[in-house]
Amino acid sequence: MTKILLKGGRVIDPGNEIDQLADVLIEDGKIAQIGVGIDAGTADIFNVAGKVVAPGLIDIHCHLRDPGFPEREDFKSGTRAAARGGFTTLIAMPNTNPVCDHPVVAEYVLAKSKREGIVNVLPFGAITKGQKGEELVPFVDLVEAGCVAFSDDGQPVTNSGLMRQALIIAKAINKVLAVHCEDRTITGEGVINDGEISRRLGIKGIPYTSEAVMVARDILLAEETGSQVHICHVGCARSVELVREGKKRGIAVSGEVIPHYLNTTEEDMQTLEGRFKIKPPFGSKRDQEALKEGLVDGTLEVIATDHAPYTITEKQRDFVKEAPFGLIGLETALGVVLTEMVHSGLLTLPAAIAKMTCNPARLLGLNKGTLGIGQDADVVVIDPDLEWQVDVNQGASKSRNCPQHGRWLKGRAVMTIVGGRIVMQDGKLLA
Ligand SMILES: [Zn+2]
Repeated sequence: MTKILLKGGRVIDPGNEIDQLADVLIEDGKIAQIGVGIDAGTADIFNVAGKVVAPGLIDIHCHLRDPGFPEREDFKSGTRAAARGGFTTLIAMPNTNPVCDHPVVAEYVLAKSKREGIVNVLPFGAITKGQKGEELVPFVDLVEAGCVAFSDDGQPVTNSGLMRQALIIAKAINKVLAVHCEDRTITGEGVINDGEISRRLGIKGIPYTSEAVMVARDILLAEETGSQVHICHVGCARSVELVREGKKRGIAVSGEVIPHYLNTTEEDMQTLEGRFKIKPPFGSKRDQEALKEGLVDGTLEVIATDHAPYTITEKQRDFVKEAPFGLIGLETALGVVLTEMVHSGLLTLPAAIAKMTCNPARLLGLNKGTLGIGQDADVVVIDPDLEWQVDVNQGASKSRNCPQHGRWLKGRAVMTIVGGRIVMQDGKLLA
Protein backbone atom coordinates (compact mmCIF):
# COMPACT_ATOMS: atom_id res chain seq x y z
CA MET A 1 0.00 0.00 0.00
CA THR A 2 1.19 3.52 -0.77
CA LYS A 3 2.60 5.87 1.80
CA ILE A 4 0.86 9.20 2.26
CA LEU A 5 2.32 12.28 3.90
CA LEU A 6 -0.03 15.10 4.91
CA LYS A 7 2.40 17.98 5.24
CA GLY A 8 2.18 21.10 7.36
CA GLY A 9 -1.43 20.99 8.54
CA ARG A 10 -2.89 21.84 11.93
CA VAL A 11 -3.22 18.39 13.46
CA ILE A 12 -6.19 18.24 15.83
CA ASP A 13 -6.58 14.94 17.64
CA PRO A 14 -8.77 15.71 20.66
CA GLY A 15 -8.63 12.13 21.98
CA ASN A 16 -4.89 12.51 22.47
CA GLU A 17 -5.03 16.22 23.33
CA ILE A 18 -2.99 17.12 20.27
CA ASP A 19 -3.36 20.48 18.54
CA GLN A 20 -0.19 21.46 16.72
CA LEU A 21 1.29 22.16 13.30
CA ALA A 22 2.76 18.87 12.14
CA ASP A 23 3.05 16.30 9.36
CA VAL A 24 1.08 13.06 9.45
CA LEU A 25 2.58 9.95 7.85
CA ILE A 26 0.28 7.12 6.83
CA GLU A 27 1.79 3.76 6.02
CA ASP A 28 0.14 0.39 5.33
CA GLY A 29 -3.24 1.80 6.21
CA LYS A 30 -2.17 2.94 9.69
CA ILE A 31 -1.08 6.19 11.30
CA ALA A 32 2.70 5.72 11.26
CA GLN A 33 4.13 8.99 12.54
CA ILE A 34 3.14 12.51 13.58
CA GLY A 35 5.81 15.17 13.85
CA VAL A 36 7.50 18.20 12.40
CA GLY A 37 9.53 17.81 9.20
CA ILE A 38 8.98 14.09 8.62
CA ASP A 39 11.15 12.74 5.81
CA ALA A 40 8.76 10.40 4.05
CA GLY A 41 10.97 9.09 1.26
CA THR A 42 8.72 7.66 -1.43
CA ALA A 43 5.40 8.81 0.04
CA ASP A 44 2.74 10.68 -1.92
CA ILE A 45 3.00 14.15 -0.42
CA PHE A 46 0.02 16.45 0.05
CA ASN A 47 0.63 20.00 1.21
CA VAL A 48 -2.15 20.72 3.69
CA ALA A 49 -0.84 23.99 5.11
CA GLY A 50 -3.76 26.13 6.27
CA LYS A 51 -5.92 23.03 6.64
CA VAL A 52 -6.90 20.93 9.64
CA VAL A 53 -5.96 17.25 9.82
CA ALA A 54 -8.27 15.35 12.16
CA PRO A 55 -9.51 11.83 12.84
CA GLY A 56 -12.18 10.80 10.31
CA LEU A 57 -15.64 11.76 11.53
CA ILE A 58 -17.82 9.10 13.14
CA ASP A 59 -21.59 9.21 12.77
CA ILE A 60 -23.39 7.12 15.36
CA HIS A 61 -26.83 7.90 13.97
CA CYS A 62 -27.61 7.40 10.29
CA HIS A 63 -30.04 5.47 8.14
CA LEU A 64 -28.52 3.75 5.11
CA ARG A 65 -31.80 2.03 4.08
CA ASP A 66 -30.27 -1.30 3.06
CA PRO A 67 -31.85 -3.84 3.27
CA GLY A 68 -35.29 -2.85 2.13
CA PHE A 69 -35.38 0.69 0.73
CA PRO A 70 -32.80 0.97 -2.09
CA GLU A 71 -34.81 3.73 -3.76
CA ARG A 72 -33.90 5.98 -0.81
CA GLU A 73 -30.25 5.03 -0.24
CA ASP A 74 -27.88 2.08 -0.31
CA PHE A 75 -24.36 1.37 0.92
CA LYS A 76 -22.86 2.69 -2.29
CA SER A 77 -24.60 6.07 -2.24
CA GLY A 78 -24.73 6.47 1.55
CA THR A 79 -21.03 5.85 2.10
CA ARG A 80 -20.16 8.16 -0.79
CA ALA A 81 -22.23 10.91 0.78
CA ALA A 82 -20.36 10.17 4.02
CA ALA A 83 -16.96 10.44 2.34
CA ARG A 84 -17.92 13.81 0.86
CA GLY A 85 -18.90 14.95 4.33
CA GLY A 86 -15.65 13.82 5.98
CA PHE A 87 -17.11 10.76 7.71
CA THR A 88 -15.08 7.56 7.80
CA THR A 89 -17.27 5.41 10.06
CA LEU A 90 -21.06 5.14 10.13
CA ILE A 91 -23.21 3.23 12.59
CA ALA A 92 -26.31 2.28 10.62
CA MET A 93 -29.69 2.33 12.33
CA PRO A 94 -31.63 -0.95 12.28
CA ASN A 95 -35.01 0.26 10.97
CA THR A 96 -34.49 -1.49 7.66
CA ASN A 97 -36.62 -4.21 6.09
CA PRO A 98 -36.02 -6.69 7.57
CA VAL A 99 -35.16 -4.95 10.83
CA CYS A 100 -31.67 -5.70 12.15
CA ASP A 101 -32.97 -7.88 14.97
CA HIS A 102 -31.30 -11.11 13.86
CA PRO A 103 -27.60 -11.95 13.39
CA VAL A 104 -28.19 -12.70 9.70
CA VAL A 105 -29.19 -9.08 9.07
CA ALA A 106 -26.15 -7.74 10.95
CA GLU A 107 -23.89 -10.03 8.94
CA TYR A 108 -25.56 -8.85 5.73
CA VAL A 109 -24.97 -5.17 6.64
CA LEU A 110 -21.31 -5.83 7.42
CA ALA A 111 -20.65 -7.91 4.29
CA LYS A 112 -22.58 -5.80 1.78
CA SER A 113 -21.30 -2.47 3.09
CA LYS A 114 -17.76 -3.80 2.84
CA ARG A 115 -18.36 -4.81 -0.77
CA GLU A 116 -20.18 -1.67 -1.92
CA GLY A 117 -19.18 1.00 0.57
CA ILE A 118 -16.14 3.26 0.69
CA VAL A 119 -16.22 4.06 4.42
CA ASN A 120 -16.59 1.79 7.46
CA VAL A 121 -20.13 0.73 8.32
CA LEU A 122 -21.10 -0.97 11.57
CA PRO A 123 -24.62 -2.08 12.47
CA PHE A 124 -26.91 -1.09 15.30
CA GLY A 125 -29.04 -3.94 16.51
CA ALA A 126 -32.69 -3.27 17.30
CA ILE A 127 -33.83 -3.30 20.94
CA THR A 128 -37.05 -5.17 20.23
CA LYS A 129 -37.91 -7.72 17.55
CA GLY A 130 -39.22 -5.98 14.45
CA GLN A 131 -38.99 -2.74 16.48
CA LYS A 132 -42.47 -3.61 17.63
CA GLY A 133 -41.76 -2.91 21.28
CA GLU A 134 -43.04 -6.31 22.41
CA GLU A 135 -40.13 -8.73 22.70
CA LEU A 136 -36.41 -8.14 23.21
CA VAL A 137 -33.85 -9.13 20.58
CA PRO A 138 -31.14 -11.78 21.24
CA PHE A 139 -28.58 -9.17 22.36
CA VAL A 140 -25.60 -11.47 22.77
CA ASP A 141 -26.09 -13.12 19.37
CA LEU A 142 -26.29 -9.70 17.75
CA VAL A 143 -23.08 -8.54 19.45
CA GLU A 144 -21.34 -11.68 18.21
CA ALA A 145 -22.60 -10.87 14.70
CA GLY A 146 -21.03 -7.40 14.91
CA CYS A 147 -23.66 -5.03 16.35
CA VAL A 148 -21.91 -2.28 18.32
CA ALA A 149 -24.96 -0.78 20.08
CA PHE A 150 -28.73 -1.08 20.18
CA SER A 151 -31.60 1.19 19.17
CA ASP A 152 -35.22 1.08 18.06
CA ASP A 153 -34.73 4.49 16.46
CA GLY A 154 -37.77 5.68 14.59
CA GLN A 155 -39.87 3.96 17.22
CA PRO A 156 -40.03 4.62 20.95
CA VAL A 157 -39.92 1.63 23.30
CA THR A 158 -43.22 2.50 24.94
CA ASN A 159 -43.30 -0.42 27.37
CA SER A 160 -41.29 0.87 30.36
CA GLY A 161 -40.83 -2.59 31.86
CA LEU A 162 -39.36 -3.87 28.63
CA MET A 163 -37.08 -0.83 28.35
CA ARG A 164 -35.89 -1.49 31.90
CA GLN A 165 -35.14 -5.13 31.02
CA ALA A 166 -33.21 -4.00 27.93
CA LEU A 167 -31.12 -1.60 30.04
CA ILE A 168 -30.27 -4.35 32.51
CA ILE A 169 -29.10 -6.64 29.70
CA ALA A 170 -27.19 -3.84 27.97
CA LYS A 171 -25.29 -3.15 31.19
CA ALA A 172 -24.43 -6.83 31.60
CA ILE A 173 -22.95 -7.00 28.10
CA ASN A 174 -21.42 -3.50 28.30
CA LYS A 175 -23.37 -2.03 25.38
CA VAL A 176 -25.24 1.24 25.00
CA LEU A 177 -28.91 1.75 24.19
CA ALA A 178 -29.56 4.77 21.95
CA VAL A 179 -33.14 5.83 22.44
CA HIS A 180 -35.68 7.64 20.28
CA CYS A 181 -37.64 9.53 22.92
CA GLU A 182 -41.22 10.12 21.90
CA ASP A 183 -44.57 9.49 23.54
CA ARG A 184 -46.87 8.89 20.58
CA THR A 185 -49.93 9.46 22.74
CA ILE A 186 -48.73 13.06 23.12
CA THR A 187 -47.50 13.44 19.52
CA GLY A 188 -50.92 12.41 18.25
CA GLU A 189 -51.35 13.79 14.76
CA GLY A 190 -48.87 16.60 15.38
CA VAL A 191 -46.58 17.54 12.52
CA ILE A 192 -44.47 20.51 13.61
CA ASN A 193 -43.49 22.04 16.95
CA ASP A 194 -46.51 23.03 19.03
CA GLY A 195 -46.34 26.79 19.39
CA GLU A 196 -47.03 30.11 17.80
CA ILE A 197 -46.08 28.94 14.30
CA SER A 198 -48.24 25.81 14.38
CA ARG A 199 -51.19 27.87 15.60
CA ARG A 200 -50.65 30.52 12.94
CA LEU A 201 -50.43 27.89 10.20
CA GLY A 202 -53.35 25.93 11.60
CA ILE A 203 -51.26 22.75 11.70
CA LYS A 204 -51.40 20.33 14.61
CA GLY A 205 -48.40 20.77 16.86
CA ILE A 206 -46.23 18.25 18.71
CA PRO A 207 -45.86 19.44 22.34
CA TYR A 208 -42.29 19.32 23.66
CA THR A 209 -43.45 16.92 26.36
CA SER A 210 -43.78 14.24 23.68
CA GLU A 211 -39.97 14.07 23.80
CA ALA A 212 -39.25 15.25 27.34
CA VAL A 213 -41.43 12.76 29.25
CA MET A 214 -39.60 9.89 27.58
CA VAL A 215 -36.20 11.50 28.18
CA ALA A 216 -37.16 11.77 31.86
CA ARG A 217 -38.34 8.15 31.96
CA ASP A 218 -35.21 6.80 30.34
CA ILE A 219 -32.93 8.81 32.61
CA LEU A 220 -34.82 7.45 35.63
CA LEU A 221 -34.48 3.91 34.31
CA ALA A 222 -30.77 4.46 33.67
CA GLU A 223 -30.38 5.71 37.23
CA GLU A 224 -32.13 2.75 38.78
CA THR A 225 -30.43 0.09 36.62
CA GLY A 226 -27.01 1.77 36.52
CA SER A 227 -26.98 1.45 32.73
CA GLN A 228 -25.80 3.91 30.11
CA VAL A 229 -28.56 5.50 28.07
CA HIS A 230 -27.89 7.67 25.03
CA ILE A 231 -30.59 10.13 24.04
CA CYS A 232 -30.85 10.40 20.24
CA HIS A 233 -31.57 13.71 18.47
CA VAL A 234 -32.26 15.93 21.49
CA GLY A 235 -34.67 18.57 20.23
CA CYS A 236 -36.03 20.77 23.01
CA ALA A 237 -34.72 22.91 25.87
CA ARG A 238 -36.45 20.84 28.56
CA SER A 239 -34.71 17.66 27.41
CA VAL A 240 -31.34 19.41 27.56
CA GLU A 241 -32.08 20.37 31.18
CA LEU A 242 -33.07 16.81 32.02
CA VAL A 243 -29.83 15.41 30.60
CA ARG A 244 -27.86 18.09 32.47
CA GLU A 245 -29.60 17.26 35.76
CA GLY A 246 -29.11 13.55 35.13
CA LYS A 247 -25.40 14.03 34.65
CA LYS A 248 -25.22 16.09 37.85
CA ARG A 249 -26.76 13.17 39.72
CA GLY A 250 -24.06 10.91 38.28
CA ILE A 251 -26.40 9.05 35.96
CA ALA A 252 -24.81 7.55 32.84
CA VAL A 253 -26.77 9.59 30.34
CA SER A 254 -25.41 11.08 27.12
CA GLY A 255 -27.04 13.10 24.39
CA GLU A 256 -26.61 13.97 20.77
CA VAL A 257 -27.38 17.01 18.65
CA ILE A 258 -28.25 16.83 14.96
CA PRO A 259 -26.60 19.80 13.15
CA HIS A 260 -29.80 20.86 11.33
CA TYR A 261 -31.25 21.96 14.69
CA LEU A 262 -28.38 24.44 15.06
CA ASN A 263 -29.49 26.62 12.14
CA THR A 264 -33.13 25.67 11.61
CA THR A 265 -36.17 26.41 13.80
CA GLU A 266 -39.95 26.20 13.61
CA GLU A 267 -39.79 29.52 11.70
CA ASP A 268 -38.49 27.57 8.70
CA MET A 269 -41.60 25.41 8.60
CA GLN A 270 -43.76 28.13 7.08
CA THR A 271 -43.10 27.08 3.47
CA LEU A 272 -44.46 23.61 4.31
CA GLU A 273 -41.67 21.85 2.42
CA GLY A 274 -40.99 18.20 3.13
CA ARG A 275 -37.28 18.97 3.48
CA PHE A 276 -38.01 20.60 6.86
CA LYS A 277 -40.24 17.85 8.27
CA ILE A 278 -38.46 15.98 11.02
CA LYS A 279 -38.94 14.36 14.41
CA PRO A 280 -38.50 15.70 16.94
CA PRO A 281 -39.79 18.84 15.20
CA PHE A 282 -37.56 21.90 14.85
CA GLY A 283 -38.28 23.94 17.96
CA SER A 284 -38.21 27.57 18.96
CA LYS A 285 -35.23 29.90 18.99
CA ARG A 286 -35.00 29.16 22.73
CA ASP A 287 -34.82 25.41 22.07
CA GLN A 288 -32.03 26.05 19.59
CA GLU A 289 -30.10 28.17 22.11
CA ALA A 290 -30.49 25.41 24.70
CA LEU A 291 -28.99 22.83 22.32
CA LYS A 292 -26.03 25.14 21.71
CA GLU A 293 -25.60 25.69 25.46
CA GLY A 294 -25.74 21.93 25.94
CA LEU A 295 -22.94 21.45 23.44
CA VAL A 296 -20.88 24.22 25.04
CA ASP A 297 -21.16 23.01 28.66
CA GLY A 298 -20.69 19.34 27.75
CA THR A 299 -24.23 18.21 28.55
CA LEU A 300 -24.46 17.01 24.95
CA GLU A 301 -21.21 15.32 23.99
CA VAL A 302 -22.05 13.86 20.60
CA ILE A 303 -22.97 15.36 17.24
CA ALA A 304 -24.61 12.91 14.82
CA THR A 305 -26.42 13.39 11.52
CA ASP A 306 -29.67 11.36 11.74
CA HIS A 307 -29.17 11.13 7.96
CA ALA A 308 -32.62 9.87 6.92
CA PRO A 309 -33.07 9.66 3.14
CA TYR A 310 -36.51 9.67 1.52
CA THR A 311 -37.28 9.87 -2.18
CA ILE A 312 -38.40 13.10 -3.80
CA THR A 313 -41.82 11.53 -4.41
CA GLU A 314 -42.20 10.55 -0.76
CA LYS A 315 -41.24 14.03 0.42
CA GLN A 316 -43.50 15.78 -2.09
CA ARG A 317 -46.59 14.13 -0.63
CA ASP A 318 -49.01 16.25 1.38
CA PHE A 319 -46.90 17.98 4.04
CA VAL A 320 -49.35 17.57 6.88
CA LYS A 321 -50.76 14.13 6.26
CA GLU A 322 -48.36 12.05 4.24
CA ALA A 323 -44.77 13.27 3.85
CA PRO A 324 -42.48 11.16 6.05
CA PHE A 325 -40.38 12.65 8.88
CA GLY A 326 -36.61 12.71 8.32
CA LEU A 327 -33.81 14.63 6.60
CA ILE A 328 -30.42 13.90 5.07
CA GLY A 329 -27.29 15.44 6.57
CA LEU A 330 -24.06 13.53 5.96
CA GLU A 331 -22.67 16.04 3.49
CA THR A 332 -23.62 19.19 5.41
CA ALA A 333 -23.10 18.21 9.08
CA LEU A 334 -19.51 19.40 9.39
CA GLY A 335 -20.20 22.69 7.58
CA VAL A 336 -23.16 23.47 9.83
CA VAL A 337 -21.21 22.65 13.00
CA LEU A 338 -18.23 24.78 11.97
CA THR A 339 -20.47 27.67 10.93
CA GLU A 340 -22.82 27.66 13.91
CA MET A 341 -20.54 26.52 16.73
CA VAL A 342 -16.92 27.31 15.79
CA HIS A 343 -16.96 30.42 13.58
CA SER A 344 -19.55 31.88 15.94
CA GLY A 345 -17.04 31.49 18.78
CA LEU A 346 -19.14 29.11 20.90
CA LEU A 347 -16.85 26.07 20.63
CA THR A 348 -13.17 25.68 19.87
CA LEU A 349 -12.30 23.64 16.81
CA PRO A 350 -10.88 20.76 18.93
CA ALA A 351 -14.02 20.72 21.09
CA ALA A 352 -16.27 20.53 18.04
CA ILE A 353 -14.17 17.81 16.42
CA ALA A 354 -14.21 15.79 19.66
CA LYS A 355 -18.00 15.59 19.47
CA MET A 356 -17.73 14.01 16.01
CA THR A 357 -14.75 11.70 16.65
CA CYS A 358 -13.41 10.52 20.01
CA ASN A 359 -16.58 11.23 22.03
CA PRO A 360 -18.91 8.99 19.99
CA ALA A 361 -16.14 6.36 19.69
CA ARG A 362 -15.61 6.32 23.45
CA LEU A 363 -19.35 6.16 24.12
CA LEU A 364 -19.81 3.04 22.00
CA GLY A 365 -16.41 1.52 22.81
CA LEU A 366 -15.13 1.73 19.22
CA ASN A 367 -11.40 1.52 18.65
CA LYS A 368 -11.63 4.57 16.37
CA GLY A 369 -11.75 8.32 16.51
CA THR A 370 -8.11 9.24 17.20
CA LEU A 371 -4.85 9.65 15.29
CA GLY A 372 -2.92 7.43 17.69
CA ILE A 373 0.16 5.75 16.21
CA GLY A 374 -0.81 2.35 14.85
CA GLN A 375 -4.51 3.25 14.60
CA ASP A 376 -6.40 2.73 11.34
CA ALA A 377 -5.61 5.69 9.10
CA ASP A 378 -9.14 7.11 9.03
CA VAL A 379 -8.45 10.79 8.52
CA VAL A 380 -10.24 13.91 7.37
CA VAL A 381 -8.59 17.05 6.05
CA ILE A 382 -10.78 20.08 6.67
CA ASP A 383 -10.63 23.54 5.15
CA PRO A 384 -12.23 25.42 8.03
CA ASP A 385 -12.57 28.68 6.09
CA LEU A 386 -13.94 27.38 2.80
CA GLU A 387 -17.26 29.08 2.11
CA TRP A 388 -19.64 27.07 -0.01
CA GLN A 389 -23.28 27.07 -0.98
CA VAL A 390 -25.13 23.81 -0.43
CA ASP A 391 -26.52 22.39 -3.66
CA VAL A 392 -28.29 19.20 -2.81
CA ASN A 393 -28.30 18.20 -6.49
CA GLN A 394 -24.51 17.84 -6.36
CA GLY A 395 -24.76 15.36 -3.50
CA ALA A 396 -23.85 11.69 -3.59
CA SER A 397 -26.93 10.62 -1.62
CA LYS A 398 -29.84 9.22 -3.64
CA SER A 399 -32.17 11.55 -1.75
CA ARG A 400 -32.57 15.32 -1.71
CA ASN A 401 -34.50 16.02 1.51
CA CYS A 402 -32.09 18.52 3.03
CA PRO A 403 -32.98 21.77 4.83
CA GLN A 404 -29.50 23.17 4.10
CA HIS A 405 -30.10 23.41 0.34
CA GLY A 406 -29.21 26.89 -0.88
CA ARG A 407 -27.59 27.98 2.38
CA TRP A 408 -24.01 29.20 2.68
CA LEU A 409 -21.75 27.32 5.09
CA LYS A 410 -18.17 27.99 6.18
CA GLY A 411 -15.91 24.95 6.48
CA ARG A 412 -15.81 21.69 4.59
CA ALA A 413 -13.99 18.39 4.34
CA VAL A 414 -11.55 18.52 1.44
CA MET A 415 -10.00 15.05 1.79
CA THR A 416 -11.26 11.83 3.33
CA ILE A 417 -8.95 8.88 3.95
CA VAL A 418 -10.27 5.48 5.05
CA GLY A 419 -7.79 2.83 6.15
CA GLY A 420 -4.98 4.67 4.37
CA ARG A 421 -6.90 5.00 1.10
CA ILE A 422 -7.95 8.40 -0.22
CA VAL A 423 -11.65 8.11 -1.04
CA MET A 424 -12.50 11.80 -1.52
CA GLN A 425 -10.45 14.79 -2.58
CA ASP A 426 -11.85 18.29 -3.18
CA GLY A 427 -15.36 16.90 -3.32
CA LYS A 428 -14.49 14.26 -5.93
CA LEU A 429 -14.93 10.61 -5.05
CA LEU A 430 -11.86 8.53 -5.85
CA ALA A 431 -13.05 5.09 -4.91
ZN1 LIG B 1 -35.24 8.90 15.93
